[in-house]
Amino acid sequence: MEKKEAKAKIKELSSIIHYHNNLYYNMDRPEIEDTEYDKLIRELEQFEKEYPEFLSKDSPTQRVGSVILEKFEKFEHPILMYSLSNVMNKEEFYDFHKRMVKETATEDIEYLVENKFDGLALELIYENGKLIMGSTRGDGSIGENITSNVVTISNIPKSIDYKGTIIIRGEVLITKKDFASINEERIKEEESPFVNPRNAAAGSIRQLDNSITLKRNLKFFAYQVANYSELSTVAINTELDAMNMLKELGFTVEGIDLAKDKDNVIEIYNDIAIKRNALDYEIDGLVIKLNNLAFQEKLGFLSRSPRFACAFKFKPEEKETTLLQIDIQVGRTGALTPVARLEPVHVGGVTVSNVTLHNPSEIKAKDIRIGDSVFVSRAGDVIPKISRVNLEKRHPDSEPFEFPDKCPICGGDTAITDGDIIVRCINEECPNKILKYIEYFVSKPAMNIDGLGKEWVTAFVESGLVKSPSDIYKIIGNDLDKFDRMGEKSKENILKAIEDSKETTLKKFIYSLGIRHVGQGTSDILAKRYESIKNLLNIEMDDLLSLEGIGEIASKTIYEFFHDDKTKKIVLDLLSVGINPKYEKLQKIESPLTGKHIVITGSIDGYSRQAAKDTAERLGAIVQSGLSKTTNILIVGEKAGSKLKKAQAFGIEIMDADSFIDIAKKY
Ligand code: NAD
Repeated sequence: MEKKEAKAKIKELSSIIHYHNNLYYNMDRPEIEDTEYDKLIRELEQFEKEYPEFLSKDSPTQRVGSVILEKFEKFEHPILMYSLSNVMNKEEFYDFHKRMVKETATEDIEYLVENKFDGLALELIYENGKLIMGSTRGDGSIGENITSNVVTISNIPKSIDYKGTIIIRGEVLITKKDFASINEERIKEEESPFVNPRNAAAGSIRQLDNSITLKRNLKFFAYQVANYSELSTVAINTELDAMNMLKELGFTVEGIDLAKDKDNVIEIYNDIAIKRNALDYEIDGLVIKLNNLAFQEKLGFLSRSPRFACAFKFKPEEKETTLLQIDIQVGRTGALTPVARLEPVHVGGVTVSNVTLHNPSEIKAKDIRIGDSVFVSRAGDVIPKISRVNLEKRHPDSEPFEFPDKCPICGGDTAITDGDIIVRCINEECPNKILKYIEYFVSKPAMNIDGLGKEWVTAFVESGLVKSPSDIYKIIGNDLDKFDRMGEKSKENILKAIEDSKETTLKKFIYSLGIRHVGQGTSDILAKRYESIKNLLNIEMDDLLSLEGIGEIASKTIYEFFHDDKTKKIVLDLLSVGINPKYEKLQKIESPLTGKHIVITGSIDGYSRQAAKDTAERLGAIVQSGLSKTTNILIVGEKAGSKLKKAQAFGIEIMDADSFIDIAKKY
């Protein structure tokens, strides 16, 4: 290769990697798989090795991580934080071992083999036993001060029994279960799901509002005492000594194993590779460190990673199959979601035949085409996905997938709204939007029209009988006669269910309107604050923004919904057909709970969840769904979960269920 060409190639690779670094570290929204990213890095390293004259200090091979987000205060790490170099297979690990033998001048090498947690690095500094700083790795030298978020993590001790300064590092992560439920919620709200648990953890901890961090249930696994050589009170000679010290100080230390030689490392690796699916969090490999700290010091550091350790990555479980078709589904809000139809394939314990491709950017970034041979991966409980295309098997005539610029159902125009990557059909009369919306409108948490199942909804919408929710209430007996299989009994049941649903609560009515970002919780907040539809139609933005529990994005969509003529008409039409949403104002009384922000956890004998909430509100309390800075009291019933521990860590007053019942009886 000509020098000029090599220079251009290095420049090109560097800028591609910078692009992916930004998506991964700053936006928490990577577009390519880690393995693809690692390949790019290796390719760049190879070029830089061959043409060292073009190696720049700013090259991504020479730097750690990301730039830091402006919204956080910067924090300079007292000791640099490093990344790790990778080994991908046994041969590469043996090469690493050879270097260790050469540099330490002994064959007798012990390794500490640790889980490589798939989260993000966190540094904690304790001063005379008190936690004084929590920060991200950032670019290795300067990180983000996220102390107020760190204190919400329940397994991070806020104080420890240690005099002097100690710098502890570890990984923050989210469990597979929490990851799955956050994503389920995001998909329901038609927001793009987090790509992997690492990004979900990073997105959860880099929040200005620490009540979001608190809700996400993050966990911390400690793996390093960074200033071990400065500790005056304890002698630490090995990695294992450091881990034991961390355990004694109250940190969670998990997944460590002492390997007596290089072959033992491979045995442990093979063993964990099988067992890792059963863990309730993701690990993406093992970290192999020289156990002897004197040897570590001898080996020292390269520009972005230590020489005495390496990450031995797992191969993600992937199966190859054929992509038969890409269908575009249209949701209630008009979102056009591409879904890949696959030749069924067994991966990660399930058979996969449909995989969501989320949005056009994902298809474009991975260049996924119909007919391609694709790799499907599914780690743990995580949603299956197409990780990459097998380009070698691509048919020469294949064409890039063209994302439709019109709605595939109604042919209507589409648009991408600001700050979004989802394409939406903007035709208000799109039959699929109507169908999905009516299905939602009649569902149990909404208007609860029992007996009007999916089949009838489809039949009514397809026949044109129902074009908007209010049409449901205009149906008369004769209209139903034209449907096959509509017997007298079904007819009667449907008409009765429709009639009965007219008497509803304000909360259910608001929920049934299907306003974006408005779930049942938000509907409840709105019902309590505004008490009537009339008030909702005169809603003010400032007032919405001042409501606890409703964020800026939801406030905007709520405001627009009640002020836009088209959506306002949906509400007015529903009222004109006789729907009567009621709000029964709670008769609040003065009690010891008046004005207190409370959270209820666990079950309270004799009370349903809703009844306990209503009772607390009658007693003047403001009931919150999760703990936050403003919470005054946590009421603890039977089988209380992690909230109790968190409240104790936060110093929030705890009230047992009996005391709560006593107050309820007395007032
Ligand atoms: P890394 O994640 O490969 O390894 C270093 C990190 O491992 C440490 O900073 C620490 O946070 C973590 N770690 C977990 N368990 C540990 C333990 N027991 N001991 C020590 N450290 C432990 O490196 P990185 O610099 O954070 O990120 C680089 C990797 O991130 C790449 O290899 C790639 O896989 C991924 N990445 C992907 C994209 C993408 O677009 N897909 C972009 C950038 C980075």
